[in-house]
Amino acid sequence: MPLIQTPIVENFQLHVVLFQTNDDLQHLGFSKEVAERIEEADSSRSIYRFFSASDAMPNKDRLDASTECIAVRLEEEDEKNRLKGFHVVQELLRDKMQAVFIESNLDASADYAFLEGFSLSCHKPQHLGNSKSSSANWTVGYRGKVSNEALEALDILCESNFIARDLVNLPQNFLNPTTYGERVRELGSELGFEVKLHDKAAIESMKMGGVLAVNRGSIEPPVFIEMHYCSSNSKNKKPIVLVGKGVTYDTGGLSLKPTKNSMDFMKADMAGSAAVVGALCALARQKADCYVIGLVAATDNRPGGDAYAPGDVITMMDGTTVEVLNTDAEGRLTLADALHFAKQFDPKLVVDLATLTGSAVAALGGEAAALMTSCDQEITKTLIKSANAVDERLVEFPLWACYGTSLKSDIADQKNVGSREAGLIIAGKFLEKYIDYPWMHIDIAGPSFNHQIKNYRGKGGSGYGVRLLLDFLKSWG
Ligand SMILES: [Zn+2]
Repeated sequence: MPLIQTPIVENFQLHVVLFQTNDDLQHLGFSKEVAERIEEADSSRSIYRFFSASDAMPNKDRLDASTECIAVRLEEEDEKNRLKGFHVVQELLRDKMQAVFIESNLDASADYAFLEGFSLSCHKPQHLGNSKSSSANWTVGYRGKVSNEALEALDILCESNFIARDLVNLPQNFLNPTTYGERVRELGSELGFEVKLHDKAAIESMKMGGVLAVNRGSIEPPVFIEMHYCSSNSKNKKPIVLVGKGVTYDTGGLSLKPTKNSMDFMKADMAGSAAVVGALCALARQKADCYVIGLVAATDNRPGGDAYAPGDVITMMDGTTVEVLNTDAEGRLTLADALHFAKQFDPKLVVDLATLTGSAVAALGGEAAALMTSCDQEITKTLIKSANAVDERLVEFPLWACYGTSLKSDIADQKNVGSREAGLIIAGKFLEKYIDYPWMHIDIAGPSFNHQIKNYRGKGGSGYGVRLLLDFLKSWG
């Protein structure tokens, strides 16, 4: 059932009123005095709470005296309104209130952003094993100018973002390549996209040398996941291919990561693929008029007995060779094979999302992802516009030839790591060797996972990329 319902919710504990001006407040039933008091209050505040809705809003009928009321001042900027949605949810959770009614007479766009931030903040973390989920369910009513259609689209958006978050948050003992593939297959048959799973034997016969090398130190076999969604009235004839890094757990392999701080959250090294799965789920549910293929090479990266080792030379699916000098730079090896695999579809565009480099985190922190692209300005501008609109921000980095020189190897076509400086761009240069189509590479290592709850993106997996991809695919294609 969608989180936000338009019929009036009975017995709500809290009445939330969205406003911009004194007039809005009076229109919704606030007394002139209360409206003036709010207007005169410190303008840096934007959330005003009253213990009795019937006292604050005497001009409104049938308000229960025990119902509380919060007035929220909305602004022009969407992101500020999303954050207000988050702050209201935090107040409610603190006071254990989960039955609310939201009312507004503002423009739909301001309300929508608030409701988006509100909804995205209502994600309940999945409890695993026998542990019990403690939080109650939300009951949220809404009366205002956002249409039912838009509310339904919002629900699909949030649910798909939550699918991505939940996948990221599953530890490796709950999500290995095999169970990952099965979960995607379930989602495909439930929501309406086709899923093909290629097992290890198939991956061997396709000679995906990058995927197989990374997988060698693991007892879990790899799975190559292929998702197809094609609407009968698709506006793009050639598919748009989304490739996601799907390393279900990354120990670094023989180039082992230190336990503390870096390995603890390496269940999240498949966040790029989770965003791709989330996007496919949303497109299928929306019955979007597009043709999109999702590709994920799922494997973990471990230092087991047969693990690939620094110094090894491996042959990739495209027949080129790579000198592996750091087994922790494994994501690019799995992505390279997936990018090569994508060529058979003659794609209109390929977008890959990957938790690829610590260097992207060093450059941008959790606030933005790094974009590198071979596309023309127009597509890039459209993507960045989407990134700004949904506040899943992107900063573009160059793919200048000079950044590729440190990947030169004496004994193979290239090395898997180059100089330490500009590591995020060098990773992009590595991948660029495997494309022959318009391509965008998004390094999401920073914003894909939150160690603390800071805003509506939650704690743990943020689902970064789902909202970006959906907005982009809606505006381009
Ligand atoms: Zn790694």
